[in-house]
Amino acid sequence: MKDFDYIIIGGGCSGLSLAYELQIHKKLENKTLAIIEPRPEYKKDKTWSFWKVSDHNFDDCTKKNWKNFSINIPNNTNHLECNDYPYQSIDSGLFYEKINNRLKKNNNISFFKNLNEINSKNSFIFNSVPSFKVSDNNLWQHFYGIEIETKNNFFDDTIFNLMDFDCQQRQSVHFFYTLPYSNNKALVETTWLSKMNDNSQKDYENQIVNYIEKQLRLKDYKITYKEEGAIPLFYPSYLKEHNKINIGTAGCMTRLSTGYTFLNIQEHSKYIRKNIENIKNAKIFRIDKKYQFLDKIFLRVLEKYPKKMPDIFFKMFMGSPKTVIKFLSNKSNFLEDLSIILKMPKWIFIRALFK
Ligand SMILES: Cc1cc2nc3c(=O)[nH]c(=O)nc-3n(C[C@H](O)[C@H](O)[C@H](O)COP(=O)(O)OP(=O)(O)OC[C@H]3O[C@@H](n4cnc5c(N)ncnc54)[C@H](O)[C@@H]3O)c2cc1C
Repeated sequence: MKDFDYIIIGGGCSGLSLAYELQIHKKLENKTLAIIEPRPEYKKDKTWSFWKVSDHNFDDCTKKNWKNFSINIPNNTNHLECNDYPYQSIDSGLFYEKINNRLKKNNNISFFKNLNEINSKNSFIFNSVPSFKVSDNNLWQHFYGIEIETKNNFFDDTIFNLMDFDCQQRQSVHFFYTLPYSNNKALVETTWLSKMNDNSQKDYENQIVNYIEKQLRLKDYKITYKEEGAIPLFYPSYLKEHNKINIGTAGCMTRLSTGYTFLNIQEHSKYIRKNIENIKNAKIFRIDKKYQFLDKIFLRVLEKYPKKMPDIFFKMFMGSPKTVIKFLSNKSNFLEDLSIILKMPKWIFIRALFK
């Protein structure tokens, strides 16, 4: 069986991002790479969105950028700007196509469906397949989204809606999220932050149709695409092995309070590329410990006081949205962290701290 210098297990977002980063920085001219990916074909399966606080390789896969957004709670709407850090949506279909076209040109890169097809004993492995010990107490961000198209112009595509909490909460935290790609196309998503141990929140189709027809007052539209997913708001088990690094969700690249992962994956890829010559001895790349600590407390509050969360999110963005965006994207300084902490209801958070 064939040997490779590097193996990437999982050719999804993090596996392909890393392979592309190594390829464009000429780190695979004298090294061989095997990518293990079982999916029979690549097609659009996700829309990755985030505030663009740092550069990445996939601007040309962008569906749209926005510089304005809104947040709603019942009877109140906040209109906000994000000029410094536009909100960006990446089309996974374009992302897969761009990367695979580029990687196929390098004969040092081979694709396999199963790790058993090659000899992995002498390789350095980048693994993106997480191993979870799932329990009933784990929190998930689970969601279902549809892209819709209307005959006539309906949406204002200069502003997206980050969270609309004006909907049933059912003892959890629930909001709708709308990304208008143009005046007649949008992604509408129903999102829940909850323990996923029952199906009582999974009447997704009903929720969306109701929202579109009653809240948005839109009747005439067609559905062009659907996506469903669940982001774990807890970290998978991570065993440090001398010839293996976990990447992506498996590598704890998710920000637990938000589910944002895409940009952390890109930063991790850059870090690996910079250290590739001495990767066995490189420090493990992590989301800063202060965010891990603050997110843990935030999620304890969310679990204990779900009814308070719409108000907490709404108030958090008041004042300087730029500071909140930096905080949620792991780019805030001490004073900015403090300004966010001071906006939180004190007793609830102090109690959660000592839980
Ligand atoms: C529907 C959805 C929408 C999301 N939207 C956003 C967003 O808007 N913004 C954001 O920042 N994050 C988002 N995320 C979170 C995160 O960015 C994505 O989950 C991202 O795809 C994680 O990358 P990954 O490489 O860890 O996992 P994946 O992209 O899932 O890649 C893992 C790959 O491993 C393959 N695989 C599975 N089993 C094996 C095996 N046994 N051997 C080899 N390969 C295997 C899979 O086929 C897959 O291709 C979203 C997640 C989902 C599910």
